Amino acid sequence: MAGEPQADCLFCKIVTGEVPATIVRETDTTVAFRDINPQAPTHVLVIPKVHFRDAAELAAGDPQAMADVLREAGEVAAQEKLDEHGGYRIVFNTGAGAGQTVWHTHAHVLGGRGFNWPPG
Ligand code: AMP
Ligand code: ZN
Repeated sequence: MAGEPQADCLFCKIVTGEVPATIVRETDTTVAFRDINPQAPTHVLVIPKVHFRDAAELAAGDPQAMADVLREAGEVAAQEKLDEHGGYRIVFNTGAGAGQTVWHTHAHVLGGRGFNWPPG
């Protein structure tokens, strides 16, 4: 069923604690942890505890959880003082061609360096 934990999902296992992660924030509905392969001085992933495959599916299936993810992205940015570095990026890679490798919705919160536009 949509939203239910998936046995073979890495990020569902981070939610349960079966796979360890460096958790920086947790709420009733979200977990935020450091990316294992950081692409910026601050690189935190914010995930919903419910399992959906990407950002749009989460927004359609559980809009409150999507709002919680985005609010937590802002809380991570505040905690990591990213505004003092001029801002931050929230990225949802969606689909293999866009770089998605884990099929459990996650917001990348990136900051602490400059960014190009258009993005690569
Ligand atoms: P994406 O490629 O957008 O699906 O993002 C998946 C992200 O998960 C990548 O940036 C990986 O470095 C990160 N990642 C994969 N495994 C782990 C892990 N065990 N703990 C933390 N981050 C991870
Ligand atoms: Zn999952």
